[in-house]
Amino acid sequence: MNKVPETTSFEKGVDAMKAQIDARVVSYLSSCVRCGVCADACLFYTETEDPRYTPIYKTEPIRKVFEHEYSFWGKLGARLGLKRPLQESDLADWETLVYDGCSMCSRCSMVCPVGIDIAYVIRKVKEGLAAAGYCPDDLVHAAERAIQIGSPMGVTAATLRATLRAQEKECGLPIPLDVEEAEYLCLLSSGEIAGYPEFIGSLAKILDHAGVSWTLSSEYFEATNSGVQLGSTPLARQLVERIVDVAEKLGVKTVIMPECGHAYSTLRWDAPNMLGRALPFGVVHVLELLETLYADGRISIDAGTDARLTYHDPCNISRRGGVVDAPRRLLGALAPNFVEMREHGAMNWCCGGGGGVSANSRAEPLRRRVFAVKKRQLDELGADMLVTACSNCRNMLADGLEDHEMNTELIGLTELVAENLVSDEAGSVPPVNPSA
Ligand code: SF4
Ligand code: SF4
Repeated sequence: MNKVPETTSFEKGVDAMKAQIDARVVSYLSSCVRCGVCADACLFYTETEDPRYTPIYKTEPIRKVFEHEYSFWGKLGARLGLKRPLQESDLADWETLVYDGCSMCSRCSMVCPVGIDIAYVIRKVKEGLAAAGYCPDDLVHAAERAIQIGSPMGVTAATLRATLRAQEKECGLPIPLDVEEAEYLCLLSSGEIAGYPEFIGSLAKILDHAGVSWTLSSEYFEATNSGVQLGSTPLARQLVERIVDVAEKLGVKTVIMPECGHAYSTLRWDAPNMLGRALPFGVVHVLELLETLYADGRISIDAGTDARLTYHDPCNISRRGGVVDAPRRLLGALAPNFVEMREHGAMNWCCGGGGGVSANSRAEPLRRRVFAVKKRQLDELGADMLVTACSNCRNMLADGLEDHEMNTELIGLTELVAENLVSDEAGSVPPVNPSA
């Protein structure tokens, strides 16, 4: 079993950073022309104007190791005392900088004129820092709980069962658990179970309406990947393997990823590379499934709200995940007054809490500060309702709205669909959790 590093080690850090230098990193580091275009794409820089938060500055540790170890001019410079090699204080400094001041949103990667995936290089820096033990305690503890208990928040199977019983009462339907040979297995994030359990009742209502064969699992239900948040591929792989094991055991054809951004992009796009083989099942984000059911006529939804409503694209679902059109097709049916933020879809601004920032209490003041960009977006629109599809984003948006005393109503898209389902007979099906 892979372990979360317990102690810091400079030598390990240099070695780990060296081990992260692959062909992509070399080509990226060699082709950066230092134009600075990526800076204005990063909310941590635009909202603080601190040059240390520019995307390219966050890659410095790996650049230093690369130059010192592999480049002619770097080696020469070091020998002549002109270039300072990586030092222990650098690892400690960049630990704070990278874990607190980068949400791995990848917006910077979208604008680089020479096509550098800067977020990929920052992820490699994190891998090196994590391997050497330079990572926030909160993320380390979350990863430990994920490995030992199966949930970064310590949610147990007993808690899940109790939540399901409560949701069954709310939605008036049995919620399938551990059903073998179901077509779909839906994972959940602990954040959803603890904070937005109505997602489960809403999904049950929609899938029952559409006649979909599905199940949850009590053996392993966690969608969140704490290894990704920590920056540890070995831990991330271990958690992905648990999903593969439980999906194979139940014999499902497709895994539904819930309203959790990084969980979707990890399983959909990164997991096959982590495992070195194709997944033995399909992966679909819940919004993709809902949109397919709607397009196939298996669910009908009403234009149930007149609110001036907008959608916050979770970075890992839209920018990194490619699920941009599905929520808009659903929102087009649900809300005649749907309006887009100026920057939306693949170029939307992050909520500020991705990449483990939300789980890192040390980063909270900075994270709340950079919400200013989202506030500006919302102020421009004057929207009454804000919809999203990631429980982590939802928490960050809730904090930001509260900090700025904004009255914008906040809701998850699955819930909104469930609230506006049209029954076969007549009229809308009542809301799952009217008190929420
Ligand atoms: S990934 Fe996002 S938060 Fe990180 S440096 Fe790039 S733009 Fe900034
Ligand atoms: S935009 Fe690309 S080339 Fe320009 S500084 Fe950023 S990473 Fe380097």
